Amino acid sequence: MNRQALHDLKRQIPLLDYLQAHDWRPARPLSRGRWMGLCPLHEDRQPSFLVDPHKDLFYCYGCGRGGDVIRFAELYHQVKFPQAVALLQQWHGLPPLLHEAAGFYRMQLHRHSEAVDYLYQRGIRSPELIEHMRIGYAPGGCLRGWLTQLGYPLQALRQAGLITASGYDAYTHRIVFPLDGNLYGRSLSAAAPPHRFLPGAKGGLYAWEQVRQCPEAILVEGLFDYAVLWQTGFHNVTCAMGTQLNAYQFRQLCDGVRTIYLTFDADNNGSGPCKRSRTGLENTD
Ligand SMILES: [Zn+2]
Repeated sequence: MNRQALHDLKRQIPLLDYLQAHDWRPARPLSRGRWMGLCPLHEDRQPSFLVDPHKDLFYCYGCGRGGDVIRFAELYHQVKFPQAVALLQQWHGLPPLLHEAAGFYRMQLHRHSEAVDYLYQRGIRSPELIEHMRIGYAPGGCLRGWLTQLGYPLQALRQAGLITASGYDAYTHRIVFPLDGNLYGRSLSAAAPPHRFLPGAKGGLYAWEQVRQCPEAILVEGLFDYAVLWQTGFHNVTCAMGTQLNAYQFRQLCDGVRTIYLTFDADNNGSGPCKRSRTGLENTD
């Protein structure tokens, strides 16, 4: 990536937006539009993290670290420079409207005990995991009001598939996982189709940027499989969101030399595709 492309990426992602999307809150205003807040990079008791939105720079008086949005992504996600750039590109790829929707769903999660109970029952118990996967909940019936009040036209909501043609929230009583340019919704109710995506591509392999440098990777079928493995300490997991890899996911999986463990369900749904995926991978040697 050349200097100009890096410059463009930084211009597209204001540091303050990125910080706030990662739950950073300004605590106290300073002169020249700067802010102080708690440092997200170390255990901070009193605000020592300074953000200058005009220069797009941060500095922490506690841990002494500072820099631009790429440096922040490196430190925050504990990745090297190229992965930080890739994470930012991926983050930027999710259109602002889906960001808002995902943020809204995240706010709803802890307000609805049925959602938290469901996660608990599926083995998702760690707050770090919920934070890591940015898991939310769509109660239904209130996203439209929230987004239109923010100024998004109804037409845009329909186009994104967030609202049905008749004007209702498309995701109702669903656990929501933000993907790369899409949102996956898992129904709580057995009466509704279990899996739902917004129209458009389901995107690449889940959390691939965090996995691709690992010499060994575990590929699972669903996001709940991913969640349970991640929670038990396997962070080299990725997920295809279904039993079929799309061409993009397949290319990602084969973009380097690595051992891949396929752990698809051992039922009729899982074993066939697993065999097919394995054959595909062997053929690319
Ligand atoms: Zn700090």
